[in-house]
Amino acid sequence: MSSNSLVELDRLHLVHPVASYRGHERAGVRVLKSAKGATVTDSTGHSMVDGFAGLWCVNVGYGVDSIVEAAAKQMRELPYATGYFSLGSEPAIRLAAELAERAPGDLNHVYFTLGGSDAVDSTVRFIRYYQIARGRPAKDQFISVEQGYHGSSTVGAGLTALPAFHQGFGVPFHWQHKIPSHYSYRNPVGSDPAAIIAASTAALRAKVEEIGGAERVAAFYLEPIQGSGGVLVPPPGWVKAMRDLCRELDILFVADEVITGFGRTGPLFACEDEGVVPDLMTTAKGLTSGYVPMGAVFLSDHVYDTIADAAGQGVVGHGYTYSAHPVSAAVALEVLRLYEAGLLENGRKAGARLMAGLHSLADHPLVGEVRGRGMLAAVELVTDKARKTPLPAAAEPARRIFDRAWDNGLVIRAFANGVMGYAPPLCCTDADIDAIIERTRMTLDQTLEDTAVR
Ligand code: PMP
Repeated sequence: MSSNSLVELDRLHLVHPVASYRGHERAGVRVLKSAKGATVTDSTGHSMVDGFAGLWCVNVGYGVDSIVEAAAKQMRELPYATGYFSLGSEPAIRLAAELAERAPGDLNHVYFTLGGSDAVDSTVRFIRYYQIARGRPAKDQFISVEQGYHGSSTVGAGLTALPAFHQGFGVPFHWQHKIPSHYSYRNPVGSDPAAIIAASTAALRAKVEEIGGAERVAAFYLEPIQGSGGVLVPPPGWVKAMRDLCRELDILFVADEVITGFGRTGPLFACEDEGVVPDLMTTAKGLTSGYVPMGAVFLSDHVYDTIADAAGQGVVGHGYTYSAHPVSAAVALEVLRLYEAGLLENGRKAGARLMAGLHSLADHPLVGEVRGRGMLAAVELVTDKARKTPLPAAAEPARRIFDRAWDNGLVIRAFANGVMGYAPPLCCTDADIDAIIERTRMTLDQTLEDTAVR
């Protein structure tokens, strides 16, 4: 089918996620056609380094035959098995066991979903059940962090703190609360790590008090690094300080590792960076590297046992048709094997090269801040470094930067306020990383010449 007719059919029939519907109709879709390693090619034959691994998910890179074979083998043998009626399949059972073995602490119980949003949604259901089971039904309030992202489900979108996910949708709900982000580049308390940690712990205590005390609060959610909010890296010790405070207050601590899980920041899970063990943990994306949809909720022993004991012989009524899908599980098992057969190691090396390369751009007149960890990074653009003046929103800097990078042979995430986001596949070669840096520099130089954004 010709590119033109695809664009037209798309315009007429395909509703895109997180898009300006009218803006998209006007601009038209760009069709991606094929990919190999860290390179994607569109339907015009234009090839680019995918500096964003699709949507922070294709951690292993594109075109890995062993994954295709694992999926095909499973499809031939048993394409579907429900987990209802106490049925199961070998790949799902093996995957749960392999993940439990690698997860921090006593996160020994794994509930499979289709992606990150329904993983977050599932945590809310498990947590409500848990608090009621403990005889604490009044613990029904949830707290998350400004600039955080926890998915696009009806419930998750209210834990998310990005305005576009709220406006017009009637969320957040009254039981969903936020505390300020640690965002160190623009933090009213300054950039000193100790001051930021003190401000965040004080804010959580104050929020809990405002809600009516710890006896009202069910759980606190954070991302070890805030992704969709602009790759905001907390100061060292921040995640641990929040974890410790939740334990002190008897509030469940949920780590949303949908982006940070599976090697993105170096270790298999970012919580490991600070030796933190959450009560619940959500993952998706890198779990299957985007080859097929799947997410996973990890439950600690005490959360799982409390729910199980309360239900007794009764049913815990939470489940999807595609929970623990055998094809997704077979893919995830192969992906996990690849991580440990050198991919995590390559990701750590490539991440060091990526961060060094991006830091080498720090003296560019438009670069206000370079931040990141491992293969997760951002460059924040400003027009005035001393004042940290953002690029003018009216000039649509994100669209301009995205388009320029694309033309230069680089796919990045361009956030609305002029932040360039990076999450390349962990398989990147030195040449891939160097191309990302060089094409970023070109994009910055062109943006500097663009009078509309200055
Ligand atoms: N949580 C976090 C931290 C995420 O980054 C995302 C997706 N970007 C989600 C949840 C939702 O995942 P999904 O898009 O797979 O539903």
